[in-house]
Amino acid sequence: MSRKELVVSALENGTVLDHIPAENVYKALDLLDLKGIESQITIGINLASKLHGRKGIIKIADKFFEDEELNKLALIAPKATVNVIKDFKVVEKKTLETPDEVIGIAKCRNPKCVTNHQPIKTRFKTVCKGDKISLKCHYCEKISDIKHVF
Ligand code: ZN
Repeated sequence: MSRKELVVSALENGTVLDHIPAENVYKALDLLDLKGIESQITIGINLASKLHGRKGIIKIADKFFEDEELNKLALIAPKATVNVIKDFKVVEKKTLETPDEVIGIAKCRNPKCVTNHQPIKTRFKTVCKGDKISLKCHYCEKISDIKHVF
């Protein structure tokens, strides 16, 4: 087995998230609500990648995600790939789709926005897709760069 294979194998059942920009690995854990779960999580950061300079990989044992949950990841890791592992084998590979709407997980940057003053769930529309994503607030229409809302 090559060294590269070792990085992604050794998971009996679970999910492998690959090609996450190294600087966003911890944000990815937040977005997927992985802090505090009991599954074994293996994180690799700054692995060499052909797609981006440095990438991160997250392996979560015995955990499978709904597409909707995974697509949130597209906001901070549009090129991420998802491998579903069962019995040490990749049984499914998924690519992410940027969600059209982002509800309850980002914060509006406009200090006057109603969502910063009342207990309202934030709601944004994603405006540009691909590598550069911005979010437009449903309430005040301010457009924020994705880097500033997570
Ligand atoms: Zn707003």
